[in-house]
Amino acid sequence: MRKQTNLDHGPRGTVQPLALNVVAGGAGFIGSHLCRALLDRGESVLCLDNLQTSRPSNLRALEGQPGFRFLRHDISQPLPADLTRMAPRITRIWNLACAASPPLYQRDPEHTMMTNVVGTNHLLRLAEAAKARFLLTSTSEVYGDPEIHPQAEDYRGNVSCTGPRACYDEGKRAAEALAFDYGRAGRAQVRVARIFNTYGPNMDPGDGRVVSNLICQALRGDELTVYGDGSQTRSFCYVSDMVAGLMALMEADIDGMEPVNLGNPDEMTVTELLGHVVTLTGTRAPVVHRPLPVDDPRRRRPDISRARALLNWAPRIPLAEGLEATCAWFAAELAAEPAAAGI
Ligand code: UDP
Repeated sequence: MRKQTNLDHGPRGTVQPLALNVVAGGAGFIGSHLCRALLDRGESVLCLDNLQTSRPSNLRALEGQPGFRFLRHDISQPLPADLTRMAPRITRIWNLACAASPPLYQRDPEHTMMTNVVGTNHLLRLAEAAKARFLLTSTSEVYGDPEIHPQAEDYRGNVSCTGPRACYDEGKRAAEALAFDYGRAGRAQVRVARIFNTYGPNMDPGDGRVVSNLICQALRGDELTVYGDGSQTRSFCYVSDMVAGLMALMEADIDGMEPVNLGNPDEMTVTELLGHVVTLTGTRAPVVHRPLPVDDPRRRRPDISRARALLNWAPRIPLAEGLEATCAWFAAELAAEPAAAGI
C-alpha cells in the first residue's frame, strides 16, 4: 500500500498534467483568490502554505474542489521530496508566500526574511528543475518611503535597511534579485509583480491593515483607528483586479526581465478612506489617532504604464464598489464569529 502523505489531502485522480500550478501562499488572502481563478480556468493547483497567517476558512473553501491539493509546508524549509518528484508535471510556480501585514511580518522578522530569500530560492530551484515559469509577488514596499511620485518600476526606492520594515522590504528586494539572476542565467523564466495595497473578501479581520481594521471597527461599533494625522496616502486595488493582473503577467509573451507594478492608481489619504467607510457603514463610532508606525511611507501610488503596455491590464473595480463588496463579506464573517467561537 502506498504511504499516506500530505499530498493526498485533495481528491485523487483529478490532476490535469498539462497545467499544474504550484501556488505558495495559496491559502492566504490573494493566494486563495488566485487558486480559485486557476481552478475556474480548468487547471490544477497544488497549494503550499504554512498556515502562519492564512485563514483556515480560505482553505476549507478550496479543499474538495476538483484539481485542488493542499500541502502544509513552510517554503523557508527544504521542499518535500513528494513535491520535487512532481517537477516534470509542474508548469507554473506562483510565490505569494509571506506574511504581508506590517504587524504580522514584524512579529518574526527572521522568518519573514528567510521566507522571502531562502523560500524564494527553493521555489526557483523547483522552477529550474521543472522548467516551469515562475512568478514572484514582490511589493510596493521595495520603494520604501518614496521620494518620487507616483512610483514607476525604474525608481530604485528609499528603503530603510535597518528599520522594522526591513525584514519584509529588503527580503522582497533580495527575492527580486534572485529571481532576475535565475532569469539572466537562463535557469528559469521569471516574472516579478510589485503589488500595491490590495483589499477584498478573504482578508483576515485581524490582519491589522487599514482596510480590514476600519471596516471591522465600523461594523463592531469600535473606535476607528487612524495612525498619525491620516494625511498619508495609499492606492487601493480590489482583489479580483489584482488576480487578473497576476494571471496576465504570468501568461504574457514577454521576456519577463523587468518588474511590473500592479495596483490601482486611485490615490487617497487614510482620512478619505475613513470617510468612505463611515458613509458605507453609517457608523457613529469615534475616531482615535494612534502614533504613526516607524518608517510608515508618506505617499504611495503606482505608475501602471508598464502593465498597461505589456499586459493591456488596468484595474476595473472602483473603490465604492469594491468597498461595498468587502464590507458585505466582513459583515457575514463577523456575524458568524460568535457561532464559531461557541463550537
Ligand atoms: N493605518 C491606519 N489605521 C489602521 C491601520 C493602518 O491609519 O488601523 C495606516 C498605516 O499607518 C498606513 C496606512 O494606514 O499609513 C496603510 O496601512 P496598511 O498596514 O494597510 O498597509 P501598508 O502600510 O503596508 O501600506
